[in-house]
Amino acid sequence: MLTGMAEFDAYLIVDWSASARPVDNKDSIWYCLQLREGDKFAVSALENPRTRHCAAAEIANKLVRLYAEGRHVLAGFDFVVRPTGLPGTDHRQYIYVLQRSRCGHKYGANGSDIHLRRCPKCDGGAPGLPF
Ligand SMILES: [Zn+2]
Repeated sequence: MLTGMAEFDAYLIVDWSASARPVDNKDSIWYCLQLREGDKFAVSALENPRTRHCAAAEIANKLVRLYAEGRHVLAGFDFVVRPTGLPGTDHRQYIYVLQRSRCGHKYGANGSDIHLRRCPKCDGGAPGLPF
C-alpha cells in the first residue's frame, strides 16, 4: 500500500508475454491495478490472464471504466517483441528481443532479466545480447 500525494488516481502495470500459446504463471501475462482510495492506494486487480486476447479485453474494459469514472491513469507496459529460441547467457535461459518505444532500438535479453533491462541506446543499459 502506498501513501502520500500522487499524480494519478490509478496505476496499471502490465508484464506482457512473448508466448503465442495460452500459458499461466511463469512467462505469462500479469497485470496489477492500484486505485486511489482517499489518500491511499489499494490493489484493485492482480491478474494472470491465460491469453493475449483475454488480457487485452480485460485491460481495455478496465481502462474504459476508469476513463468513464474520470480517473487519471498511468499505465505501463512491458512488451517483448519476440522470442528467438537462441540460448542466452544465464542458466537455462533463451534470448528475447526487446524494443524501446522511445527510440525504436531492438536488443536481446535473457528471459530472466527482461524486467531489469534498460535500453542500451538511449537509457544507459548494458549492451544487448546478439540475436
Ligand atoms: Zn532507446
